[in-house]
Amino acid sequence: MRLRAVNLLTEKPYTGRFAPTPTGPLHQGSLVAALASYLDAHHHHGKWLLRMEDLDPPREDKAARELIPQQLLAHDLKWHGDMEYQSHNGQRYGDALAQLKHSQLLFPCTCSRKMLAQHSGLHQGNCHSLTAQQADTPHAWRLPVNDETWSFQDQVYGDYGHNLLTTVGDQVLKRKDGPYAYQLAVVVDDEHAGINHVVRGLDLLDNTPRQLYLMACLNYDAPRYLHLPLILNPQGQKLSKQNQARALDLTTTQQNLLDALRFLNQPLPPTELTRHNQQILNWAITHWSVPSIPTSQAGLI
Ligand SMILES: [Zn+2]
Repeated sequence: MRLRAVNLLTEKPYTGRFAPTPTGPLHQGSLVAALASYLDAHHHHGKWLLRMEDLDPPREDKAARELIPQQLLAHDLKWHGDMEYQSHNGQRYGDALAQLKHSQLLFPCTCSRKMLAQHSGLHQGNCHSLTAQQADTPHAWRLPVNDETWSFQDQVYGDYGHNLLTTVGDQVLKRKDGPYAYQLAVVVDDEHAGINHVVRGLDLLDNTPRQLYLMACLNYDAPRYLHLPLILNPQGQKLSKQNQARALDLTTTQQNLLDALRFLNQPLPPTELTRHNQQILNWAITHWSVPSIPTSQAGLI
């Protein structure tokens, strides 16, 4: 097993981000991720950027694209600069794909879903020697992975890593039907924006090793990572847009912020400093404590 050291960019100015997918309005779980990334950035006198991850139009909700920034602003969570949309960044992803092709790191893949399903979705290497000319049917572009472990030090959960060959397999970077893969878009956009701190939900922890591998293939430096426990609904499921989590109530923004801070086990402001969102945020920036974040994987709010 080979462990890769991650090059930490602590000397550069902190740049963080919140990157929601517009599949529905933000709920209390999304607020925890937005607030934690905002507080970590401001506590370090850094920038906090906003990026809409709108790469998959069939799954998206047009109203949510408009509503999400309004929900953030209603909580006084203001981002630096203009909000970015992944749907506008196709050229950037195409350039990164071309760089990988030029380095002969990609191969065209003509495997069907049915073929992949026979091996639990793991690619078996049968297209490795195929050239673009030979792949005369529609094809995806895949990045082959090696039999090695990619790991990193998470600020909350400690060492985490896995063997990409046995868990993920060769990664699709551009789908057969055209769209660029989420993993490619995230890595390329973070690099472009100079993101050096990623704060996000634990549901994305297992995406991190494959993203680190892709960054290495593109000669990018890796950010630092901080993953957050997830909020469960009363049925014990992760609060998500898919299981109809309630949209944030914008008439109770102070309470929403306090609930999120309580969930993250952060010190709470005295009552006289809870009348306005900005008072709560200012207190929370000053008192932000990463060691206090619970290391349980999930909890009720
Ligand atoms: Zn294939």
